[in-house]
Amino acid sequence: MDYSLKLLYFFAFLGGSVIFIYTLYIIYQNIKLKKILALPFKKEYKEYLKNTPYYEKLPPQDKEKIEKSILIFINTKQFIGIGLDITEEMKVIIAFYACLLLLHKNSCYENLNTIIVYPTAMIVSMLSHSNGIYTKDKFLIDGQSSNDTVIISWHDAKKEAYHLRYNNVIIHEFTHEIDFMSGEINGVPPLEKSKYHEWVQILFDDFKKLNNVALKNRDWNKYKILGSYAATNEAEFFAVVTERFFESPKVLKKHFPELYKELKEFYEIDPVKLLQV
Ligand SMILES: [Zn+2]
Repeated sequence: MDYSLKLLYFFAFLGGSVIFIYTLYIIYQNIKLKKILALPFKKEYKEYLKNTPYYEKLPPQDKEKIEKSILIFINTKQFIGIGLDITEEMKVIIAFYACLLLLHKNSCYENLNTIIVYPTAMIVSMLSHSNGIYTKDKFLIDGQSSNDTVIISWHDAKKEAYHLRYNNVIIHEFTHEIDFMSGEINGVPPLEKSKYHEWVQILFDDFKKLNNVALKNRDWNKYKILGSYAATNEAEFFAVVTERFFESPKVLKKHFPELYKELKEFYEIDPVKLLQV
């Protein structure tokens, strides 16, 4: 047989095998998904969720949707406890807030594999470099995220999950995950092209103003609502304003109406209306 013909057969076989394996994978994923969606949404899960400010306020169709998302989340992601045993409550509460952010998107954090849960805030060491001097600093953090892993302190998460507070570490870390979905962590989530300009203009304008106030450490006025941590960079700004959007929506809407509108359009949720606050 001609050498080029042999090569052609070889690549045809290789291509066919790849398509065959990929088809098998898709079939396997669909069977797995069907099995997960056939699982009952336990009474205990609903009991945990009833104590959050959002679950009972969701319209019936959204409640049904988020329950399905929670089942997919807790059955496809790996939960690892460090210094504690992972409970159903931890899984359901973390999944609930993560899925609330993506309630109207067709996604369940496909890149995310693992959620690590610590009992309390963690101490992390970071090496920083300035003017030829390396400094090793220790920071106390209640959460952290990378492209495929989220770390949560359960002490903070639980405290914030059942009441409307200023902060919500689960919402914060999962906003970073949404930020990662656009390819880089820069405060811009995946957006339609037509929305990009408006998002950058509104969010980054407030980010710059907050930065100025934080640098001078005076004339905080309404920027006090956002706090100095939001001035760290654009990604932290996006995570913090999302926390405020869900946790203190009325205050955010009053003082930052454009920012509120932008987030409302992105998440397709109106917390002020939903919670009737
Ligand atoms: Zn952050």
